[in-house]
Amino acid sequence: MKIIRMGDQPSKPGPDTYFTGTVRMEIEFSTEAPARVGGVTVTFEPGARTNWHTHPLGQTVIVTTGVGWARIEGEERVEIRPGDIVWFPPGVRHWHGATDTTAMTHIAIAESIDGSRVDWEEPVSDADYLAP
Ligand code: MN
Repeated sequence: MKIIRMGDQPSKPGPDTYFTGTVRMEIEFSTEAPARVGGVTVTFEPGARTNWHTHPLGQTVIVTTGVGWARIEGEERVEIRPGDIVWFPPGVRHWHGATDTTAMTHIAIAESIDGSRVDWEEPVSDADYLAP
């Protein structure tokens, strides 16, 4: 059994190559083959969000605190709250983050293929972020 203890890893900022606004990443984990799963707890301050991105094998997001927003390209923005479990199917372009007024923390879990769990694209514009 492997246990990653809270405090084993320093918190780190979400890099601005992948995120807009203030983002904190904690307790990242990954597994060794043949397992594929890994993840990270991400906290978004109000206004903060991921870039547009896709996951080659999809992603599960479990909201733990706050209120956030998520959008699949071409669909309406969705509010997500603590206890909600969100599934983004493989290859579907989307973003997730805080609302413009409330922080949000989620646990993001995804499986990797060829060493990758996410393919990052461009930042989400304010217009795309704020559009209902
Ligand atoms: Mn995602």
